[in-house]
Amino acid sequence: MSKLRTADSTCILCGCGCRLRYFLDDEGNITRCKPIIIDRERGYEGCFKGFIAWKGVETNRIDRPYVRGEDGELKESTWKEVYEILNSVFRDYKEENIAYVASGEVTNENNYIIQKFARVISFTNNIDTCARLCHASTLDAMMKTLGISVMPNKIDDVLSADCILVFGSNPYTNYPALGTKLMLAKMKGCKIISVQGSVNETSRKLADIVVTLEPGTEIIFINTLVAELVRKKYIPLSRIEELKGGEAFLNVIEKFKSSLVYRFCHIDLEVFDKIVETIGKTENFVVMHGMGITQSGIGTETVACLINLVLLKDAKLVSMRGKINIQGAGDMGCSPTSYPTGPINEETKMKYESIIGAEVPLMEGLTQIEFMLTSPVDVIYICGSNPAVSMPYLDAVHRSIEESICNLSSPILDAYSEICRHHTSITHPHRDKWYNYKC
Ligand code: SF4
Repeated sequence: MSKLRTADSTCILCGCGCRLRYFLDDEGNITRCKPIIIDRERGYEGCFKGFIAWKGVETNRIDRPYVRGEDGELKESTWKEVYEILNSVFRDYKEENIAYVASGEVTNENNYIIQKFARVISFTNNIDTCARLCHASTLDAMMKTLGISVMPNKIDDVLSADCILVFGSNPYTNYPALGTKLMLAKMKGCKIISVQGSVNETSRKLADIVVTLEPGTEIIFINTLVAELVRKKYIPLSRIEELKGGEAFLNVIEKFKSSLVYRFCHIDLEVFDKIVETIGKTENFVVMHGMGITQSGIGTETVACLINLVLLKDAKLVSMRGKINIQGAGDMGCSPTSYPTGPINEETKMKYESIIGAEVPLMEGLTQIEFMLTSPVDVIYICGSNPAVSMPYLDAVHRSIEESICNLSSPILDAYSEICRHHTSITHPHRDKWYNYKC
């Protein structure tokens, strides 16, 4: 029996993006995979799903293009036919008539090429990603408070914490690799406080203190927590007074008395006092937050309040993201308001044009919400993304996709293609790092 070839790559199943070792037969088929153990002290990289990730790569993947016929059915096609259609579509539809959806599930290189294609060939900044749906509020809050839109700390900071506040996230179930690190931190004596909209596995299995908040009262909880930390001198007053805008900040939080937490958040004051004391006494404090607070009408403000707490307590902020390369999609400029060289303006335009030797548009593009819901375009090219499931107002999204003259979808997983294919006119596979073995 011949020996299996191995190739190290990433797991595509969640935002942790763990390293996996794939085993390939002589024909390049992936036969199995397993997480690569990095360090027992830092925790295993990967979870049980890392043993079955290969099924997502190999099982029923589409390996040829499909075109919707006049009877409304998607039919197998040839690359020749599809290239001819694509050629005429990209020639006929440009600027405000076409939009692109990039992806947090494809590589930086692919994301870079998609946005470059949109800007140079279609001369449009109508390029967006799923990255700006789930954590748009985090990015906005970080830009406004920290001046950068990236997580400022590393995941392993969790391991040296003596108190971790998990706010609006369920790492035990949804980010198993992070859940493992939480377990390791707990074994070293770290206190875990879980504040959620509903009881989840992180609260049940890991937390020392559990709080279930009334939805919509997150800001009251956080601001009252900060106010109490100041009142009880866990945060020195002088620290805030010396800040620009410190006085105004104190005037605001002064209004947040602990009675509000009881009245609006429905939290027992004894429990709240325990939280204040635990966080107040901690030296190495970590705040982890996720989509339990970001996907809300007050998401930006809630994250900004959490960042206030982080800054005043010299804490670390760990933002748990949804997909493996969400950060990369943003960094590569897959945004209607940013080139890869920075937010759209004359200077960044000239800089980008001088790098690529081609002209790009200056006018900001439409967001995904706009070009799929409020200002539909004629052509939408969707790459490795799944708006047919992940967007709000799905009926309207499905209609919008179907009513576009041409929707081009290049899904990366069959599970996605099944859903997208119900609505698209053309579906074709594309190469990516994880699939280069066979395509
Ligand atoms: S934690 Fe996520 S990325 Fe890592 S192996 Fe499990 S599913 Fe894959």
